Amino acid sequence: MSGREEISTPKRTKEIIQRYGFKFKKSLGQNFLIDQNILDKIVDAAGLDSDSGALEIGPGIGALTERLALTAGAVTAVEIDRRLIPILKDVLSPYPHVKVRNDDVLNVNLQEMFKEDFTTVNKVSVVANLPYYVTTPILMKLLEERLPLDNIVVMIQKEVAERMAASPGGKEYGSLSIAVQYYSEPELVCIVPRTVFIPQPNVESAVIRLKVREHPPVKVESEKHFFEVVHASFTQRRKTIANNLKARYFPEQGREQLEALLAEAGIEPTRRGETLSLEEYARLSGVLLAAGIE
Ligand code: SAM
Repeated sequence: MSGREEISTPKRTKEIIQRYGFKFKKSLGQNFLIDQNILDKIVDAAGLDSDSGALEIGPGIGALTERLALTAGAVTAVEIDRRLIPILKDVLSPYPHVKVRNDDVLNVNLQEMFKEDFTTVNKVSVVANLPYYVTTPILMKLLEERLPLDNIVVMIQKEVAERMAASPGGKEYGSLSIAVQYYSEPELVCIVPRTVFIPQPNVESAVIRLKVREHPPVKVESEKHFFEVVHASFTQRRKTIANNLKARYFPEQGREQLEALLAEAGIEPTRRGETLSLEEYARLSGVLLAAGIE
């Protein structure tokens, strides 16, 4: 490791920040990791080796990037903040297989980027301490684009991680759980206290691992319709599934038809959206579509 202390130690982090006169931008979710144990847990959870590529979103000053460089065969780090680019180029200069890109990850053509950057490796993971203000859009982009990904290991806000991993029946279970679980198998790796960041965030964090599925766990005719039904079913969490679906699909009349369709799907009209499994939503979407309800 270039004969110096690693980037993530509190001492070296402070030194880098001071040397470059870097000022944190709260609006970009800049909270840098300064704990080696947490970094170990993140990198271990991704199961990287020299045959793996790693995509990091938001490298900051390179604490996690350096760890990825020491394990993976190819690393690409996408950072939105132009001020961090010269710092990253400098501190990561000992690692020629790291590529730093200055971009907003939400605007990047990831398919193209994967083809350019990960030609020398057999599998790719996303590994990141995500900016919390855009966690969900970033993860949904990664999942919906069906990138050739092995897994996604990310530090995110604890409540969001719990919602992603939630099972039917609890108050955390909702459309986010269903969307994430449609594309991946989530697993909470660990809860992380605020004290391992500078500056400290206002919320607790968690590391979550999403093992990307090759095929969705349920068969649906139209993914768009499936997710619309899910969304409609959670419009008002305290309402029954029948009332939420009625408001969306039968605003004037048609209660009887709706109840018949729910019966056909094997779902009691008095249940709430939060009790339905992915299989039940898939069945419901199929029955509604077959009846021309879109
Ligand atoms: N990886 C570093 C660490 O663990 O110390 C920094 C993590 S910090 C929580 C999030 C980083 O994401 C910041 O460096 C921020 O500038 C960057 N960022 C914020 N929005 C972004 C976006 N849309 N695209 C790419 N990077 C972004």
